[in-house]
Amino acid sequence: MLCGDAIKGYEKYLFDESRRTGHATALAFPRDDAEVSGAVRAADKDGLSITVSGARTGIAAGAVPDGGMVISLERLNRICGVRKGENGEFHVLCQAGVSLADLQRSVALGKFADSATWDKATLAVLEEMKTQRLLYPPDPTETSAAIGGTVACNASGAHTFRYGPTRPYVSWIRVVLADGRVLELTRGQARADENGRFGFQHADGTVVTAQAPMYRWPATKNSGGYFSGAGMDLVDLFIGAEGTLGIITAAELRVVPAPEANCAAVTFWPMEAAALEFTRNLRQRKEVLGIEAIEYFGPDALRLLRKRRALLGAASGVPDCLPADAGCAIYLDIGTTTAALPDTLEAVAACVRECGGNPDVCWTGMTKAERERLRVFRHALPETVNAAIAEIRQTHPQVTKLGTDMAVPDECLERVVRLYRERLDAKGLDYVVFGHIGDNHLHINILPRNPAEYAAGKELYQSFARDVVAMGGSPAAEHGIGKLKTGFLKIMYGEDGVAQMLAVKRVFDPDLRLGKGTLFG
Ligand SMILES: Cc1cc2nc3c(=O)[nH]c(=O)nc-3n(C[C@H](O)[C@H](O)[C@H](O)COP(=O)(O)OP(=O)(O)OC[C@H]3O[C@@H](n4cnc5c(N)ncnc54)[C@H](O)[C@@H]3O)c2cc1C
Repeated sequence: MLCGDAIKGYEKYLFDESRRTGHATALAFPRDDAEVSGAVRAADKDGLSITVSGARTGIAAGAVPDGGMVISLERLNRICGVRKGENGEFHVLCQAGVSLADLQRSVALGKFADSATWDKATLAVLEEMKTQRLLYPPDPTETSAAIGGTVACNASGAHTFRYGPTRPYVSWIRVVLADGRVLELTRGQARADENGRFGFQHADGTVVTAQAPMYRWPATKNSGGYFSGAGMDLVDLFIGAEGTLGIITAAELRVVPAPEANCAAVTFWPMEAAALEFTRNLRQRKEVLGIEAIEYFGPDALRLLRKRRALLGAASGVPDCLPADAGCAIYLDIGTTTAALPDTLEAVAACVRECGGNPDVCWTGMTKAERERLRVFRHALPETVNAAIAEIRQTHPQVTKLGTDMAVPDECLERVVRLYRERLDAKGLDYVVFGHIGDNHLHINILPRNPAEYAAGKELYQSFARDVVAMGGSPAAEHGIGKLKTGFLKIMYGEDGVAQMLAVKRVFDPDLRLGKGTLFG
């Protein structure tokens, strides 16, 4: 453990991708559960708060310490085994510090760096796994994220449209609690009753009972606050708790059969209304066509990408063949069987025609290399937005990115897009609309040109949150609440809901030492 001046040189543990910087007086790098418990007890003895640090790719500052001790889980980086469940599904047991990229690659290849240490029975399961093409679906874009961080944030991404977020893939977790005790939870083992009461037993026999939050959980994607509801599984309380209830040291994750054939496409639209209609049509045929992701590039987004292409040429990642009359675009990922692929492509082309588009100007990615080019194109947009903000910050350093993370129910998509545009245009703000339109989860990135516009943008951001909640959606769909969006919890669940969350927190963390400043401000 490093304390005081010894922390110098370890500044990277003081910030995350939100770029907010914190401070700490101690830094621990435990190598196993016992050392995590030891660090937690040492922090308790010294009266220090604890911030859990995964890979710090979070963009809500959850891993940014507000004093106290940082516990980094980067040395807990082994994949410990595989298991076949009773229903024939495979599960992978990971320590919290394993990167998402490592897990996804290992599952796809059926090769695990640590398998030399596995016992015979586990290796036999691995041999069986190798006969199948498997996939760990959660895809929060940034694959350097640690598994513990993705579970703590219930991470999701473009493919959540087909596969859902991290939550349904977590079958077991091991958690070190604020008093240093270790709790293991298997999905299905401890559930709240119809009134939300739940109980569990520690290894030493102590029985704990508590009340789960009972506020209405949005039916959309949501990463805001503790999971709630009658009958909820105790595992789900820790998923998405952003390190405020316990330190997840290991998780067992379910993997699923990978599609036999994949392809990607970018379709172009003269008007936003046609792109929204196309989205609605595709959504209805999601299962039949094997649609994995539907991603949107608004007119403002294409304008920005054209500028990037003009500035950087081929290095921009933007092909020079963007159709001149393209007003906006929809990117698709499709996963299906080899036999069904030709018909699927024909059905998508027919759908493009039905909605007034031209399939002849679509881009398709059939091979891995072609799909990679389309992926680079998709990722060029957030990079361009970040570059635009960096440029503004040279003149106005107080300006930061204002990127929303809000999802609404299917029937509210058109309404929310109209609302965003009307309010942003009325204020004369520059902005870019893009993102996970399949899940009605568009990121509005406001590009303020000066501090006055920044203030106006922040105000609008709050008003969007209230409207989205009124529509039954979530203002924190995938990036969590962290330390930057704590005000949203009251908008989402009311004061009573926040009080219910705090009551649960006190059961696991009576002195409120875990994740100081996260969720509760
Ligand atoms: C370019 C980019 C794109 C992104 N796109 C997406 C996206 O599409 N979808 C999405 O969901 N996210 C996205 N993110 C955010 C981020 O990658 C995810 O939130 C990720 O799940 C965080 O993992 P991490 O290991 O980096 O966690 P950290 O940032 O280290 O921590 C995040 C939170 O979890 C807590 N925590 C971390 N590890 C543990 C643990 N083991 N036990 C308990 N608590 C823990 C921390 O205290 C903190 O509150 C993106 C980030 C970047 C930089």
